[in-house]
Amino acid sequence: MRDSVWITRLLAISLVILAAIVLLLSNKEVSNSNLTANSQSPSEQKAWSPANVQYQSAIKPTIPTPSQSPDNQVVAVTPKPQPIQTNNQKANQKANQKNNQVSKPQPLPKTVFTTTATFSSYQPKYTVAWADPSNYGDRFATDIHGMPLMNPPIIVLHETTNSAQSAVNTFKTNNSGDENRQVSYHTLIARNGLVVYLVPPDKRAFGAGNSVFEGAGGIETVQTNLNLKPSVNNFAYHVSLETPPDAWDKNVSSHSGYTDEQYYALAWLIAQSDVPDDRITTHRAVDRSGQRIDPVSFDFDKFFNILHTFRVKNA
Ligand SMILES: [Zn+2]
Repeated sequence: MRDSVWITRLLAISLVILAAIVLLLSNKEVSNSNLTANSQSPSEQKAWSPANVQYQSAIKPTIPTPSQSPDNQVVAVTPKPQPIQTNNQKANQKANQKNNQVSKPQPLPKTVFTTTATFSSYQPKYTVAWADPSNYGDRFATDIHGMPLMNPPIIVLHETTNSAQSAVNTFKTNNSGDENRQVSYHTLIARNGLVVYLVPPDKRAFGAGNSVFEGAGGIETVQTNLNLKPSVNNFAYHVSLETPPDAWDKNVSSHSGYTDEQYYALAWLIAQSDVPDDRITTHRAVDRSGQRIDPVSFDFDKFFNILHTFRVKNA
């Protein structure tokens, strides 16, 4: 009698362990540079959304280097879209108000969105194509003067200069020897609406150099490197649209535009965040180098119409 109880228990424990191993293996991130879509897993996708923008370095205040390996990256999986908030926002408000001429963001009224049934019924295909770690870094908790940073996230839209595959190849290149070549977006959206995740949202992608965001709270920009102009990268989530073939490698001020699939996938991605409409901007708008005008021919009315079918403001 006793023996059979123990055997049953042993069997049950073995089954639980086996199930856990199977689960772990099936949840492994898939790296794919050929831009083919993976099978759907909503929780995995949400982990990559702008809802997970946060100052990673605020948790453990060390001076991060852009070449840090992302191997130990922990990507939080959230069952529901969550409000974006930096960990030390409240604690830092007083300190930040004291001085700091360059970046003085005002805390914005908190807006929380809920995704709609239309959002739930739309599922774009996606793939993960890690950028090389030399092309991104950690988000800083303090600026070059030691001032705590509390800018709420913004979303910066871009377009590629050539095909999506060409952009992915660029991001996969190790540029640790050349600071000027280090570049990345968090996410790329191909012509067919395929969502390509490149850099985890809690990391700092190098999407815009010399740049400033002019929001409702005033001028926002952050300097984290003595040798570089201040930029919005520390609080930006960068998304790029694959440019149409008629504009590949051409420096044009307009082109045939983006596909419906791209507008829908972009709205779907952003609908998962609590970034308000007026903090969704373009590289052109934030650029201070005078050289960036992307994304050209972007239809904001069309985009916002779709976004508003995917998420609504909470009452
Ligand atoms: Zn750009």
